[in-house]
Amino acid sequence: MSSDTRRRKAAKIRHLLETEGESVHENTTHFNEERYDAVEEFDDYEAVRAEARAIKEDAIERLPELVETLRDSVEENGGTLYIADDAADANAYIGDVVDEAGGDTVVKSKSMTTEEIEVNEALEANDVDVWETDLGEFVLQVADEAPSHLVGPSLHRTTDDVADLFNRYFDPDEPFETAEQLTEFARDYLGDRIRAADVGMTGANFVLADSGTITLVTNEGNARKCAVTPDTHIAVTGVEKILPSLSDLGPFIELIARSATGQDISQYVSLFSPPTNSPTLDFEDPEAPAFETDGDRSFHLVLIDNGRLAMREDEQLRETLYCIRCGACANSCANFQHVGGHAFGGETYTGGIATGWETGVNGIESADEFNDLCTGCSRCVTACPVKIDIPWINTVVRDRLNHDHDSSEFDFLVEGLTPDEEPARLDLQKRAFGNFETMAKVGSKTAPVSNWILDSSPIRDGMDRLMGIDQRRELPSFRRESLVDWFAARGGNKVRSTDRTAVLYPDVYTNYVLVERGKAAVNVLESLGVEVIIPDVPGSGRAPLSQGMIDTAESKAKQVTDRLRRYIDAGADIVVIEPSDLAMFRRDYEKLLPARAFDMLSENSYEVLEYVFGLLENGAEADALSNADSRLAYHSHCQQRTLGLDAYTEAVFERLGYDVITSDVECCGMAGSFGYKSEYYELSMDVGSTLGDQFSDATDRTIVASGTSCSEQLTDLLSSDVKHPVEILAPDGR
Ligand code: SF4
Repeated sequence: MSSDTRRRKAAKIRHLLETEGESVHENTTHFNEERYDAVEEFDDYEAVRAEARAIKEDAIERLPELVETLRDSVEENGGTLYIADDAADANAYIGDVVDEAGGDTVVKSKSMTTEEIEVNEALEANDVDVWETDLGEFVLQVADEAPSHLVGPSLHRTTDDVADLFNRYFDPDEPFETAEQLTEFARDYLGDRIRAADVGMTGANFVLADSGTITLVTNEGNARKCAVTPDTHIAVTGVEKILPSLSDLGPFIELIARSATGQDISQYVSLFSPPTNSPTLDFEDPEAPAFETDGDRSFHLVLIDNGRLAMREDEQLRETLYCIRCGACANSCANFQHVGGHAFGGETYTGGIATGWETGVNGIESADEFNDLCTGCSRCVTACPVKIDIPWINTVVRDRLNHDHDSSEFDFLVEGLTPDEEPARLDLQKRAFGNFETMAKVGSKTAPVSNWILDSSPIRDGMDRLMGIDQRRELPSFRRESLVDWFAARGGNKVRSTDRTAVLYPDVYTNYVLVERGKAAVNVLESLGVEVIIPDVPGSGRAPLSQGMIDTAESKAKQVTDRLRRYIDAGADIVVIEPSDLAMFRRDYEKLLPARAFDMLSENSYEVLEYVFGLLENGAEADALSNADSRLAYHSHCQQRTLGLDAYTEAVFERLGYDVITSDVECCGMAGSFGYKSEYYELSMDVGSTLGDQFSDATDRTIVASGTSCSEQLTDLLSSDVKHPVEILAPDGR
């Protein structure tokens, strides 16, 4: 990426942070908090999630068969099913249907699939008036803007914004001021258009194959009106929305509103098997029975392929098709919460899962602009009601983008000189961050000279221009004596134990930069009677994986397991200080290693405070640890939270009598190399400001963080030293 491109990206993000950030943050964090509450109160949540996932897996596997069943059902009901290969095919068919209906006016309910095929533009090119009847979409239509969120398309706008917009556009006698006034106006204005429309167009959240039933899940009731009022109804939806039958629908109705907005159920869940017996109101005669129809209604179900069937054949993108478009992945994502979908999105789709959708339906280049905004923290995986591994999809697409460069005859020279498994034309910034381990080894061997050189202005300036490493960040300072060297020089372990042996994994940062926390971990473990070993083991592959360098990460994963296998076979536990490395062992390696190797490492690896907690629970003497520094402000790492391990640190501090306040901020904004990148520095600091605000009153406490990134960010935010929990617990303070 050129420095101009980085500057353009940074400027766009800065603009969105200033103009839309506040509203996006308020709305997405509200949805996210409501989701947490709704899920906590829903006893069967995990079981229903698993059921929904299984239904989706089965439905996508059986998709061709379900399409044919659905075709029979729709035709039996008197409707027509059309499979559109792509947007142009869909728009041509829809145009013909509107034409046949003598349609001048189409009313629509909210549908991301119709955004994808740009049906409004296609109809308007043929002089058809198209009206969005969802309030958020109506706002966007008036403002001529793209949606910024899958569920709340205009959540980047405040009520005041919308009032200004409507006052300018509609010039009412009395200016609009409140949300109620705006909603009332829109309801009446759009109600007139629905009554007068020739064609109603809806999406469909779910389509039931064996009955031809479509399900609409909304909060405004406008979708039902669009479906049943005009004589012609066109439902446009992705081919992946088919479920086998009504008995499969329940889990999704339980999950979709809870995941999207935290409601137990949406205001309207409408099931139709059109065109028969759909209730229509005679607005000229409101007293007439609601269920009388004139029998002259037509229904067209347009199922969009537009790349979906190819996604089904793509082992890595297939999971995207399980998505029910609830938006929870966006609401739970710290970067999205701050900058919104106008930066974190492609041509149509927004949020974490947008990478999968955009790659599948609009082409991989549409994912290129925003794919790096996923930092791989994995919080969206626990938020997703159908358990999609969204970060992995982002990583796979990043990897494909890395390979998507033209080759040159000199590539062999670059490939021969780089320590990774990646193509020659890999972006320089990605290559630098992905090979941090090599840089750290060289930096350590040549320290302190390496640190002086890296810190010099000309070098920082060059790194900023060539690699986009932001000069506002302090670079890590390499230690001449690595943790592995220190451990060997002290003569190895000081405790011999027949009960418990731990391999302290020397992650790259602990080994070459934050050596003190490694020494503290040795001290803590030995004080609790554990025999410690620190072998020379390669980096986990976290750094290359974060840059989409999957082949390099896979090679590291194999080296790490090969190196650790003999210790595990001999009965040792693997103890890990850095949560993102533990996440590799417990989660990401599942994608990189054979199942047996993954099981071996994941089942025998522990986060260091999780391990300490286990030792204390099993009789180790808490008195052996320090409780001298009694007032702490603690921030856990996002991967630690995703793995459900943050409670162990808090429990150990509590047991030892520390006075601790804990941050409830889920992301510090740094996310490994993300906060170092010049195009994302301001976003990183904006995300971090929430954490900084929480701890700004805690200056009389020792700031403690479990992750390297969190420590770096907190140091920058608070200009304060930050310690790892093991440094607090180490008996002699080291
Ligand atoms: S990926 Fe999961 S969380 Fe995100 S929109 Fe789809 S279903 Fe919802």
